[in-house]
Amino acid sequence: MSHKNFPMVSNVIFGRGSFNQLEDILAPKRINTQAPFIFLVDDVFKSNAWLTSRIPLAYDDKIIFISAKEEPKTDQVDTLVEDIILMTKERPSGIIGIGGGTVMDIAKAISIMLTNKGGSQDYQGWDLVKNNAVYHVGIPTISGTGSEVSRTAVLTGPHKKLGINSDFTPFDQVILDSELTKDVPKDQWFYTGMDCYIHCVESLEGTYINTFSETFGEMALKLCKEVFLEGNLREEEAQEKLMMASWHGGMSIVYSQVGVAHALSYGLSYLLGTKHGIGNCIVFDHLEEFYPEGVRVFKAMKEKHQIELPQGICADLSDRDFDVMIKIALSLDQLWENALGPDWKKIMTPQKIKSLYQKM
Ligand code: NAD
Ligand code: ZN
Repeated sequence: MSHKNFPMVSNVIFGRGSFNQLEDILAPKRINTQAPFIFLVDDVFKSNAWLTSRIPLAYDDKIIFISAKEEPKTDQVDTLVEDIILMTKERPSGIIGIGGGTVMDIAKAISIMLTNKGGSQDYQGWDLVKNNAVYHVGIPTISGTGSEVSRTAVLTGPHKKLGINSDFTPFDQVILDSELTKDVPKDQWFYTGMDCYIHCVESLEGTYINTFSETFGEMALKLCKEVFLEGNLREEEAQEKLMMASWHGGMSIVYSQVGVAHALSYGLSYLLGTKHGIGNCIVFDHLEEFYPEGVRVFKAMKEKHQIELPQGICADLSDRDFDVMIKIALSLDQLWENALGPDWKKIMTPQKIKSLYQKM
């Protein structure tokens, strides 16, 4: 049996205020004065001088503000790559993504597409990328997705929602400064935080689990419970713990996979544009059959923070709509195999998926 050999984030800095060291971190990575750094920044920070004034711009460096209203699309990535090629004299020295999973995934994808031919949809899948990416840095401003540590950049393309999973995807540098998460609205804090919690449950309950994934998953789960369930942490402590939960949750999936909630949530996202965090919550709320203890604790956390999830989002869908979602969900073999084992197709039939969607 041969074991998989995974790349990791090569440099990470952790600490409140570590964002101030960005200039020192980037300086040695500048190839020359013609090769700029491109900062992709969530547009929620557009008029936020507290953050933007600390982005160290020199020579031809540029800031591009990115809306996180919709999840990353392949054509959006391709357009941004075109724009960057047109606006720069030389291939950039680096791409720096400052935001949540949306902006971080766009940063990863762009850094790959600057050195690989064709369109980003050609690389949705596993190990399709040929050339090393441009140096890329991830700076999360909201915690939970684990995108800062993962080997994938999730994109919605014309035919599928699927990540660019490759050895070139992980960031070369991550800056974990929990202070950047201080103004996340409560509902979004919960949704993205629950993405981490659901990563843990799906990884730990899955058939792919090994000791590597288990140790990270258990640590992340413990941190999530401290933050969302026990709730007697100081604010800063809670922000730091959730940031580390996200990291560990992401690490847990390196050797494992997500499961039922993610597969169904991808279907919702593809058809209805439901965003990842909230979509996972909507789905997970109905999965007691698969994750009894995980869902019980989820409901307790939801109750504690008085989160009202949207109901009836599938109420008015046609049979064709259901078929689209079912097709997307069923295409994620690895997720189902992890969740239900090699005979998953006998358990998770199209009818079964439809009955689950009909509850949402
Ligand atoms: P997001 O990046 O979509 O952001 C959610 C909202 O929070 C946005 O409105 C954004 O503007 C706002 N926000 C972010 N930081 C803020 C701050 N500091 N203050 C105020 N508002 C802030 O949310 P997300 O849940 O982090 O990311 C979801 C995306 O991540 C999806 O596209 C999903 O596919 C992807 N994802 C990727 C991976 C991976 O491993 N690559 C894993 C899970 C999810
Ligand atoms: Zn997720």
